[in-house]
Amino acid sequence: MDCIFCKIVEKEIETRILFENEHVVAFEDINPQAPTHLLIIPRKHIANLQEMTNEEQQQLLPEIFLSIRHLAEELNLEKGYRVVNNCKKHGGQTVDHLHFHLLGGRSMQWPPG
Ligand code: 5GP
Ligand code: ZN
Repeated sequence: MDCIFCKIVEKEIETRILFENEHVVAFEDINPQAPTHLLIIPRKHIANLQEMTNEEQQQLLPEIFLSIRHLAEELNLEKGYRVVNNCKKHGGQTVDHLHFHLLGGRSMQWPPG
């Protein structure tokens, strides 16, 4: 399978990884939209939220959100941050490996485009 995020997980592509454990990898987005812009992904290739099994959801979503909270502390995002999941075509998803954006370091606007 030709998945760019799987290649990052396998360290086949040079990327600054800020956090990783058995289940999750977090790295800098190549095209940052804020002073802090990380992507948090499961190691396992899952295309999007809708494709998760119940077991994957129960195991991986808490891991992902714990790592987001950990990173927010490490990166001094005490003023706040935004977590985004673009799901499938209408959500604006461009990479079909489940990922959550962690954006911070500036004030965010609402509504999104
Ligand atoms: P999506 O639009 O699917 O929610 O977000 C995909 C994100 O992946 C985009 O923000 C894009 O900049 C990022 N991205 C795409 N290719 C690469 C890559 O090769 N390395 C990194 N670090 N980020 C990437
Ligand atoms: Zn993948």
